[in-house]
Amino acid sequence: MGATFEKATEDEVDFLQEVMVEFEPDLAAKRVTVAFLFARGETTDAGHYKPPLVKKGVRAIADVKINSYADRVEGKSDATIRYDVEQWDQHSDAVRRAVLHHELHHLMLQMGEYGVKTDDAGRPMLKMRPHDFEVGWFKDIAAIHGHNAVETHQAGLLLDDAGQMLWPWAPDAPKPLDAFDKSIRSRASRAAAASASAN
Ligand SMILES: [Zn+2]
Repeated sequence: MGATFEKATEDEVDFLQEVMVEFEPDLAAKRVTVAFLFARGETTDAGHYKPPLVKKGVRAIADVKINSYADRVEGKSDATIRYDVEQWDQHSDAVRRAVLHHELHHLMLQMGEYGVKTDDAGRPMLKMRPHDFEVGWFKDIAAIHGHNAVETHQAGLLLDDAGQMLWPWAPDAPKPLDAFDKSIRSRASRAAAASASAN
């Protein structure tokens, strides 16, 4: 049967709308409409769990798609966000907000000579904003090829470009660590200790 989908409740749609108004006000100002669906995975007869949203073979938390002009004419919203319901259930509101903001951030208004371009249905035209960082790394490749591996090279670039932003718990962090930073730092040092003893 595959993944199943259900519409978010009115409260959850309001939550998404609040995230848009707060963090992506340009989209809200142009009244970009975004449908909100929950996706549920399935367990096969053999007992194998299949997650509902998969990107490049890896389970995803959520995704977003821009709907075509024809779909919009048919009554669909301008875009659709799908969120893995099992992960939603485990997430705090703060994490949900960050995930929804991430998906909304993919949506960019297409600008023309006279401002935001609209399609023949009068809807704002959108395009996808790509990630600033895309990570696709193999542990084995980094382990075997060391500093010659793309994995190691990219990790170094990330540390240089965005170290304090992405890794606020880094050893040279300029600010006092909060509980989250501390938990990540202790997880990182446990992992380092484990790999050191394994070598
Ligand atoms: Zn993304």
